[in-house]
Formats: sequence, structure tokens, C-alpha cells
Amino acid sequence: MKSKVTYEGTEKGRRGLSDSGGAPEPRIRVPDAVRALIRKLEDEGFETWAVGGAVRDALQGIRAGAGDWDLATRATPGQVRRLFGRRTVRLGEEYGTIGVFGSDEVLYEVTTFRHDVITYGRKARVAFAQTLDEDLARRDFTVNAMAWHPRHRELRDLHGGREDLQDRVLRAVGSPRERFREDYLRVLRGLRFAGALDMRIDPATWDGLVEAVPGLSRLSMERVREELQKVLAGPHPSRSLVLYQRSGALARILPELREGVSPEALATVDVLDRGDWLLRMAALLLFGMKPGDATPGRVAGLLTRLRFSNADAERIGAAARGGLAPAAGIAADPFARRRWVADIARSGPSGVEDMLRIWRAVARAAPTCTDTDKVDRVAAGIRGDRAAGIPTSVGDLPVAGRDLVAQGWLPGPGIGAALRSLLEAVWEDPALNDRATLLQKVAAMKPARPPR
Ligand code: ATP
Ligand code: MG
Repeated sequence: MKSKVTYEGTEKGRRGLSDSGGAPEPRIRVPDAVRALIRKLEDEGFETWAVGGAVRDALQGIRAGAGDWDLATRATPGQVRRLFGRRTVRLGEEYGTIGVFGSDEVLYEVTTFRHDVITYGRKARVAFAQTLDEDLARRDFTVNAMAWHPRHRELRDLHGGREDLQDRVLRAVGSPRERFREDYLRVLRGLRFAGALDMRIDPATWDGLVEAVPGLSRLSMERVREELQKVLAGPHPSRSLVLYQRSGALARILPELREGVSPEALATVDVLDRGDWLLRMAALLLFGMKPGDATPGRVAGLLTRLRFSNADAERIGAAARGGLAPAAGIAADPFARRRWVADIARSGPSGVEDMLRIWRAVARAAPTCTDTDKVDRVAAGIRGDRAAGIPTSVGDLPVAGRDLVAQGWLPGPGIGAALRSLLEAVWEDPALNDRATLLQKVAAMKPARPPR
């Protein structure tokens, strides 16, 4: 099929390519569904390119996930919607982005060429552009500012992104100072990309970034949280976290971490499963807050400020209650362990497992803080208790309040206290955890009021 599209600035694009050291023609595989979207737009006369992260990753030989392919087009959002009709979703029309379902049922972002981003503190307003080149010039880093045209097999690389990728340098497009000031989120994006892509930050870009750190306070907490979450969900968060600390960004967004991120904290965060980034967050707080500061209330308060959901804040709070290592008593004394587990279990269903995961990671990554044997002993004790059906709450006991009432107890707080004492008796001696034995024990107890 012949394209009706005419290309502007193609010569410049070609020059951009040969400028990057006469590199061989890149081999970039674009999913068929993405090619089909581009073809359909171009058949209508709208120039369209694959842009951003997927192009960057493809050039490094990393296969991007299907949904990571983003398209930039001359079509306006209205034109994209008219062309794809019911296969579209309004994602951020005011920013020029329409979601379009490909033939593979993956949702792709199709964004109209943009230039000048006008920022008013938190909000950005974008004006549409006529050319791809204008659009690329407003992107954040050179490695993110490349576009690929699958039909023409052309790489548009006006800012030297390919060379920077080769040299592993993260560099702002244009004047670093201005780019960071336009959108302070780029500070955090830069720290994340440098870590995730294992790149050095170009000195001028670093200076501009550090200078912009105070502006982070103006960002909405949601955007900050989302960035932090992306760092923590990556394969080696420590690389970005070190840069967070060095640039001053960490102290700016998490002033509660008065201890910063120690080598032990970094190693532990890396060892924890990336799929469970909330635990990485918990470890960061446990190491970074002053020992007396990491109370569940303060942890939850900090997380709420960062707009974590209540469920996430509670889960991290519960996991953080365990501290960095099992207290000596818990490792040595079954009664103390059972009371402790019951306490943690009350603040969340996954609290105990989360706590053990953090302790295990600390033992592996920071053996000076705790040792694996100790953690294993506690974990084995907990497993044994579970297998033996040892109750963690009065509700798990084989006797209930109505059994006491049947023995003549009056409903009221006395019954709760009696059940709690039975629970503790079972923790002391698990052999008592039997209905007949406990009923006998109740009979021997002094009821709150004499039987009628
Ligand atoms: P990843 O998805 O792996 O985090 P990405 O590069 O795809 O990385 P996205 O956030 O998906 O990042 O954005 C896609 C592209 O949009 C980027 O590559 C970049 O060109 C541009 N971009 C995104 N956010 C900004 C921003 N705040 N300032 C300038 N350009 C941006
Ligand atoms: Mg992306």
C-alpha cells in the first residue's frame, strides 16, 4: 500500500542518524498490531511514528512489552477518535493522548505531536505541533527522544540518543536547567532511568537536576509516589536510590528518613522480591527512620501523605512493626513468640509473612543486623504452631463466650478477660488447647458473678 504521507525534515533525520557515528541500520521489531495502527493513520494522511521508551529499549536489544509501544502522530485527538471509533479510550485527551486497541487487543497510546509544555506549578498545558521534530524536542532525555518509522525503516534521532545509549549517558534534551524547571517530575524520572538503564548522568544534566531538587516540593504527591513505586518495582532499585540520596531528592520527598539509605538498606531492598515493592518500601522506612520513629502510626502517616492507599499503608505499617530483626525474646521464648504473632496478625492478614520476608532479606543482605539461623528458628516455630492449631486469637479457641454463659457467667467484659487468660494459658502450654480441658479450667475459675 502506498502512503499518502509526505515527510518533513527527513533529510535532517537521516543526518541525525549518520551523525551517530555511522551506526549500522538499527534492527527494531515492531509488533504487527502497532504497524497496522501506523498504516491506518498514514493511509489517512497522518504521519505517525513509534516513539519513546520502546524505541530506546529495542535499540538496546530489550524487547519491550507490547503495551509499551507509544505512537506519535500528526492526527489530532479528535481525528484519532473518528478514525478508530469504538476501539478508542479517552486516556488524556487534554494532553493529546487517545488509547487505541490494536488487533492484538492491547491498548496503545496514540499522542498528537506536541510542542512547548507550559507548566503552572503542578499542571502542564500542551500545545500541539505540526512536526515530529518539534515533538521530539520537548521530550525529557535524549535516549527517550528517538522515533522509529517501521515502514521506512528510519530512525529519527536529532538529539544524539543512540550515541548516548551506546555510551550509557543520560542527557537532557536541550538546556537541562530549563527542562527540569518545566517539569520537576523529570528530576525523579532522570534518577530512575539512570538506575534502571545503568547510565551515568551527564555532568551538565546532573547540575541542572540537583538545582531543580527544591522544586520537587511543588509536585503532586501522587506523581511522586508513582515514580517511587516505579523505582521500587525495578530490578535494582538501589542504583536509583543512591542517586535519590546523592541529589538531595530523597531528603526532599522523604524527610522522615533521617538516617538516609545505608548500604545495608540498599542491599536489603535489592534482595526483596521486586514483585512485592511494598515490602521494599517497608524496608526503606525501617532502615531509614530513627529507631524510635518507625512506629506504626508514624509509618502510616508518612504513607498517607504520599497518597498510598489505606490498604497499602496498613500493610506496610504491619510489616514494619516487626522491626529489622526478631527481638531476642521472640527467638528464644515460644510464649513471647505466640503473643507477638497474635499482635502482628491483628494488624493485617499478611503481617506475619511480610515480617518474615523482611527479616530473611535483612539476614541475607545485611548479616550484621540479624542472622539467618535466628530468623529460621522463629519461622519454624510459627510453622509448628500453625500445624498444631495454636490459636492466635480468642476466636480460635475451642471454647467460646456461650460456653461460659452456659456455666453461669453473665455476659460482659469478664468473659472477654477470662477467654484472654485461656488463650495465654494455651500459649504457655499448648497441651491445654482442648475443649474438655479448657471447660474444666473455666469451671475452676471464679466467675465474675456467682452462678444463678
Ligand atoms: P518506561 O515506560 O520504561 O518507564 P518510557 O520512556 O516509556 O519509560 P513513559 O513514561 O512511558 O516513559 O513515557 C513515554 C515517553 O514520553 C518517554 O520516553 C518520553 O519521551 C516522554 N515523556 C514522558 N514523560 C515525560 C516528561 N515528564 N517530560 C518529557 N517527556 C516525557
Ligand atoms: Mg513507557
